[in-house]
Amino acid sequence: MADLGTYRKKRDFSKTAEPAGSEPTSSGSRFVVHKHSATADHYDLRLELDGVLKSWAVPKGPSLNPADKRFAAATEDHPIDYIDFEGVIPEGEYGGGPMIVWDTGDWAPMGDPRADLKKGAFKFRLWGDKLKGGWMLTRLKGKPEDKGKEGWLLFKEHDTAMDTKTDILTARPKA
Ligand code: MN
Repeated sequence: MADLGTYRKKRDFSKTAEPAGSEPTSSGSRFVVHKHSATADHYDLRLELDGVLKSWAVPKGPSLNPADKRFAAATEDHPIDYIDFEGVIPEGEYGGGPMIVWDTGDWAPMGDPRADLKKGAFKFRLWGDKLKGGWMLTRLKGKPEDKGKEGWLLFKEHDTAMDTKTDILTARPKA
């Protein structure tokens, strides 16, 4: 399940400052959401699992409103070192453009994360600065040609961390 081959194949580490990545080791429970201004702006949700970062690209970004189901394309596993990465990926390179850490913190699965990811119904909790509470990723039906580009939907669970009025993507940080 944890595999950095695709990640490394897509990148030329003599040109990009992104980490080539250490080998997958033991697992913590951190997450990051990168804001990535590549060909199109998007948000990359990455959860630490089995020594890599499981990653989804979310074009419209996360929403605190449970009614907003945001498309999330599964992307290749990223190395753990990527969790702190910020920088500008050179133009013409894979994912060229600026990348910043938009939110980070701890996460925890609500069930068996490996089984739930396989099943395509994955519930988890986030303890970030911006994203908190329960979240769900559900895999869309259909047979993707490239398993690395599976379509999922990301949405907020109903709980005290939900917010139907604030757009977290543009909200001013609380003092
Ligand atoms: Mn990205």
